[in-house]
Amino acid sequence: MKYHVIRPWESRLFRQCRRAWDFSARERQDYELAEPLRVVDFDEAIHEAMDVYYFPGMWDWNRAIVRPVAVQGFVKSMRKQRAAYAERRELTPEQEQQWEQQLELGTEMLQRYFSWALHADRFTSVQVATLFDVTIPNPDRPQDGLLTPDGRGIWFRVRLDTVIVDEHENSWLVEHRLVDEWGELDELVLDEQSLTRAWAWELAFLGKMSGTIINELRMPPAGVELGPADAMDVRALQGPSGLIKQEYNDHVRRTQIPRGSAELADRGLAVAYEVREMTDPGLSLYPNPSPDKCGSCHYRRPCQAMSAGGDPAVILESAYRKRTVEDFEPGKLGSIWGYMPETPRTADYRSPARGDGDEAAAG
Ligand code: SF4
Repeated sequence: MKYHVIRPWESRLFRQCRRAWDFSARERQDYELAEPLRVVDFDEAIHEAMDVYYFPGMWDWNRAIVRPVAVQGFVKSMRKQRAAYAERRELTPEQEQQWEQQLELGTEMLQRYFSWALHADRFTSVQVATLFDVTIPNPDRPQDGLLTPDGRGIWFRVRLDTVIVDEHENSWLVEHRLVDEWGELDELVLDEQSLTRAWAWELAFLGKMSGTIINELRMPPAGVELGPADAMDVRALQGPSGLIKQEYNDHVRRTQIPRGSAELADRGLAVAYEVREMTDPGLSLYPNPSPDKCGSCHYRRPCQAMSAGGDPAVILESAYRKRTVEDFEPGKLGSIWGYMPETPRTADYRSPARGDGDEAAAG
């Protein structure tokens, strides 16, 4: 019997709007937009550079050698995504110009980050872009995994950016994020994505995750003179599970947050309760409109048709399609369930975005 697979982005979408989740989730209708909305996913291209820079197989290499290879990873991703878009639609002169600007911006941001990381990285990278499945312990009988009401096993499919081991042999989960403004410390402490990944990693690899590290790369604010790329300030703040350390300059901020077992167990319970609700056959699929969610939702047209009492089938048929790619792009740097896939890419659409896997989310 086939397993029921749930991804963190699907849980997040379920929480935001059940109707959008029903259109998008792979175990539900599994629709994505037929036409790509943008030429490139800049965040994805930056992540591809980070995957190269922190690739465990090259961790012992001189950083002066790895650095240009990592930037090349970014450039390659930008070119590949642009080529995929151009197969479907010709780029306008404005899009061509924007692509060139993004190429320059990303290269600059990476060079600044790498200058800083040369002094800040005091650890060993052991995993990048890892995709893995875990069974979710049943909150009522933790020795058993959660099942769907029709008796199928549930896999929770997680992707993470990087895992490092520090000088004391402690493991830490690292996330790379592009931001316009630094996140509030409280938000980083409560950050659902990194907590979920850390909880799942402990389950999958039977290790202890000491905490989460969030690397924020700030998009340069217009018209502001910024300090040198290799500058470094440090501060320590009291957090719920120990001392939080922040290392930062005008371009990059790294926040290292110790995580206690209670914190991770609490996240695991939340995942289990939510997944149980998501697999309930009697679930109500009501929409949950709000300006912030609907403004960026990919499913506005079929949603509006349904809200007006109509049938969204024609819209879905003409402007959407069922997903054609798997969760992990074959041949890509990283690891999947412990091995490196080698078969060539067959799909003609770019791989799912980071942040656990899919750009087709509301909000
Ligand atoms: S448009 Fe708004 S209400 Fe409709 S599916 Fe999207 S998020 Fe939900």
